[in-house]
Amino acid sequence: MSARIGVIGSNMVDLVTTIDRMPRIGETLEAPHFEMGAGGKGANQAAAAAKLGADVLMVSRVGDDLFGGNTIANFHALGIDSTHVRAVPGVSSGVAPIFVDARGDNSILIVKGANDHLLPADIDQAAADLLGCDLILLQLEIPLDSVYHAIDWARANGKRVLLNPAPATTALSLDRIAGVDFFMPNQTELSILTGLPADDRHQAEIAARLLLQRGMGTIIVTLGAEGALLVTRDETRHILPVRVQVRDTSGAGDAFIGAFAAHYVVHHDLHAALDQAVRYAAHSVTRAGTQKAFATGAEFNEFNL
Ligand code: ADP
Repeated sequence: MSARIGVIGSNMVDLVTTIDRMPRIGETLEAPHFEMGAGGKGANQAAAAAKLGADVLMVSRVGDDLFGGNTIANFHALGIDSTHVRAVPGVSSGVAPIFVDARGDNSILIVKGANDHLLPADIDQAAADLLGCDLILLQLEIPLDSVYHAIDWARANGKRVLLNPAPATTALSLDRIAGVDFFMPNQTELSILTGLPADDRHQAEIAARLLLQRGMGTIIVTLGAEGALLVTRDETRHILPVRVQVRDTSGAGDAFIGAFAAHYVVHHDLHAALDQAVRYAAHSVTRAGTQKAFATGAEFNEFNL
C-alpha cells in the first residue's frame, strides 16, 4: 500500500530584514542584514514530512514572479511532487516581510498573494493524483471554501484528513469541518476557535472536549515548551516535551505536524507518531529559521541517539 501525504496549502517567501529600529513614516534607514527563506504553513509541513522521507504531493499556488520559480525549485530539491503547484497569472506570490530587531522581537506582514487563488476547482483538478494519497493535510492560509471543499472531497473518497486550524479565524465553521480525523491547534488557536481559555493543560483539555462534541475525531493540542496534549473520546494523554536549548521556536508547530504525518501515514500508530512529532519539533527549535531548521532524517536519527 502506498503511503502518500497530500498537502493542500500555502507557500510563502519569508523576507527577513534585521533592523536596528523601525523607520518612522517618511524616513529611510539602512538595515544591517537581509535574508530570504522558504515558508508558509503548507510548504513548511510538506518540507518537514519530506525531510523525514515521506512521499508528499503538494497542491499550491505561486505568483507569476521570480519567487514562484524559486518556490517550485525548493519543492523539487526536497523531493516533493509539485505537479500541482502552479502559477497564477497577474498575481504575486505569497510573501511575508519580517522585521527582526536587535532584541529578537518580530514585526511580520503577510501578503497571501497567490495562496488566496487556490480555489475548489484547483482541488478538483488535482483530484486524480490526490486519490493516491492516504492522508490529506490542510491549514487555513488558503480560502476557507477551498478548505471545506477539500474536506468534503476527502470524506467522499475515504481519505483521512489532518486539519491544522492556523492561523485561527472565528470565520471557520466548525459544522463544515466536523468529521476531520485529526484536529491540531496550538493553545492560541484552540482558544480562538472555542471561545474558551486554553492557557494550561487543564483548560486545553476542556476546550478540546468541546471540539470532540462538535464532531472532530482526534484532537492534538501543541503546548509549546510543555509538549502536547492528545484528547480523544477514550483518553487524555500529555506528551512530555523534550528539553532542549532553545534558539528559535518559529515553525515548531509545522515541524510537529509534518513529523506526525510522516510517521502516521506509514505506521498508523498514533502514540508513536506523537513521540516522533515532539522530538522532531524539539530539534527544530534548537536552530534558527523554519524550513532550514528542520532536520533531515539522518540528522534527526543522530539527535535521537
Ligand atoms: P506553534 O509553533 O504552532 O505555536 P507550539 O509553540 O505549540 O506551536 O510548538 C509546537 C511543538 O513544538 C510543541 O508541541 C513542542 O513539541 C515543540 N516545542 C515548542 N517549543 C518548544 C520548546 N521550547 N522546547 C521543546 N519543544 C518545543
